Amino acid sequence: MKKILVMEDETNIRSFVVINLRRSGFEPIEAGSGEEALEKLRVNPDICLALLDVMLPDIDGFEVCRRIRASGSKMGIIMLTAKNQEIDKVTGLMTGADDYVTKPFSPAELTARVDALIRRLGIDEDDEKDGQRLKLTQIEYLLIKLFMENPGKAMSREDILTAVWGSDFSGELKTVDVNIRRLRIKIENDPTEPEYLTTVWGYGYKWGY
Ligand code: CA
Repeated sequence: MKKILVMEDETNIRSFVVINLRRSGFEPIEAGSGEEALEKLRVNPDICLALLDVMLPDIDGFEVCRRIRASGSKMGIIMLTAKNQEIDKVTGLMTGADDYVTKPFSPAELTARVDALIRRLGIDEDDEKDGQRLKLTQIEYLLIKLFMENPGKAMSREDILTAVWGSDFSGELKTVDVNIRRLRIKIENDPTEPEYLTTVWGYGYKWGY
């Protein structure tokens, strides 16, 4: 069972998250403060993902995130931010968080984000699909990196072309489609029904739904 750290000082929210994670088949490890979170991380080195509340009485969520990354850990990190804390999203991603969820959130939303991040990390970790090592071309690697850095964001074909091939590239937008198709064959279980690299009709592509 995958261990997930739940750092949240508000007991009601923490229990709510813990119950939902347990129901989704995860093993939640609870922490009510930043200090406790760091201790739990130390004794549970197999924690694969951390949900970090930003506002805590002792060490805040960003600092815990920074310390996790400073230790060299590549575990998934999702920040739990309060409503309308736009600045938190930016700060959170800058300190090394992978994603953020705004409170109040539904159990479905939280589980979806956790699942999505675990899937993403599964690929990110060792570029493997069903235990077989993937061989990516330089372009495919740059493509996947671009999507990993912009999870859930619809990217236009023009933006993808510029980001991956450079602004001097004079090729057609079709180049993007051709390479996405190749990448899907390598990473998707069913390339005709993509789960990861999804199409945004009339616009471009997106990582996840
Ligand atoms: Ca809090």
